[in-house]
Amino acid sequence: MAEKDSGNSINRRQFLKASGAASAIAGSAGLAMFGYAAGIDPRSYQGYQSFEGADQNFNREKWTVDEPTYQKVGKGIRPDARTEVIFDRRGYMMRAYKPGCTIDDMNDPLKSYYKENPRDFELDVLGIEEIMPKFRQDSVKYRDQFRLANAFSHAMSAVSPRHDSRPPGEADFPRARRGGTPPEPVSLKDPEMTSKLIKKVSHQFGSTLVGIAKLNPDWVYLHTHRGRGFDVDTPLEVPKHWEYAIAVGVPMSWDSMYANPNYGTSEDAYSRARIIAYRLASFIKQLGYAARPHVPGNSYDIMVPPILVDAGLGEQGRHSVVITPELGCNFRASIVTTNIPMKTDKPIDIGVQDFCSYCMICADNCPSNSITREGRIDVRGYRRWEIDKATCLNFWNSNLGPMGCRLCIASCPYTRKANWLHKTAFKVSLNDPTGLSDKALTSLQKSFYDAPDPQKYYIPSLGGENASYREPPWWLRSEDFIEF
Ligand code: SF4
Ligand code: SF4
Repeated sequence: MAEKDSGNSINRRQFLKASGAASAIAGSAGLAMFGYAAGIDPRSYQGYQSFEGADQNFNREKWTVDEPTYQKVGKGIRPDARTEVIFDRRGYMMRAYKPGCTIDDMNDPLKSYYKENPRDFELDVLGIEEIMPKFRQDSVKYRDQFRLANAFSHAMSAVSPRHDSRPPGEADFPRARRGGTPPEPVSLKDPEMTSKLIKKVSHQFGSTLVGIAKLNPDWVYLHTHRGRGFDVDTPLEVPKHWEYAIAVGVPMSWDSMYANPNYGTSEDAYSRARIIAYRLASFIKQLGYAARPHVPGNSYDIMVPPILVDAGLGEQGRHSVVITPELGCNFRASIVTTNIPMKTDKPIDIGVQDFCSYCMICADNCPSNSITREGRIDVRGYRRWEIDKATCLNFWNSNLGPMGCRLCIASCPYTRKANWLHKTAFKVSLNDPTGLSDKALTSLQKSFYDAPDPQKYYIPSLGGENASYREPPWWLRSEDFIEF
């Protein structure tokens, strides 16, 4: 079952017609220019005053709701990472793949998944047979052009905590030190004070955003990723000590994010989110409680986006990414599951569901048409937007630079630096119950923020021009530093 969207009731042409007066247009253009000028000032790079929590500055109290803005519409069904996490599925498929293979040649979980989703079988084969060879060919041909972007991305992931691959019954609990006994849980005075403490130390560890939720078992994979201390083919029983989920988030480098897809990287934020989660888990264990980090990339036993929603950090948008008041969707997150007793946060409703019902900017900019223009759909008992992950990954393999694509994040109107224009626009949007200002703001963005034709983002072998959404920052332009 799917909802009906209202559609974009004011498009660019209608907006310009409706506004009519040249002075209004000139005024808007002036504002856009001022906004642009303010936006390129590094002082507006929201999210880096982490250590004191100064950038988690949105007062959520006024916008809390009892139920999250995804909707429960049936019995929740736990996801199977082997088939529903595209990276895992593609990995299993690549191991089983032979030229001319059919669904019947796949292992059992893949076979039943592909029988229900035959289009994904075709898209996965297309990715392996056609897109990957062209990607490899152009990676060599254009290597020097993206030398700095790739070096930056690799450097960001160079220092990472070592993953503990023992099962949760061992890995999550405090260890005995120097032949002694493991620390007993300290007696904590008050769950509310503990939440305050956990949030404060998370900021001290470098987190921009932090929120706390009770862990909904529907978000725990039924079969998880490899290397997590579980037999992936045996259904995972949710450990009793995974009672709470602490969600932490940090921004991706603003400049390289806007220069997606060919110059963008998630690695800087992945790395910081990993370090924070490991520090936090260590802190909790020192107090005698259980804690397990779930970190990028793919070292999770849980689904991250709905936990961010439950923890009151934001709402899930049309592009499936969570949108927060402070960073929009320009952030990466980790989760720590734990049994330290805490007061939990409530979800928030900042109007994202309405805004996304007519905005469509991410869908317009997505090079692979992976973002629906229709309403939300029912996925495993919950109603929300869902992207086409197979076409999305095929595009990840169709552009160069640090692999991936965050164009939907770069183009989303919520992903804006903390300059006065965007702060004002967000305030107006939050406090206008009619939604008229949102529609006007969306039209303004569509009118004044040009973007390349989505086909240009592809590698030349697939008909593109290696384009990026915005110009790469000066420090990632290889041609200015390297002879080639
Ligand atoms: S990451 Fe890129 S390809 Fe995937 S949905 Fe977003 S814009 Fe589309
Ligand atoms: S660009 Fe952002 S606000 Fe617009 S529809 Fe997509 S997710 Fe929603």
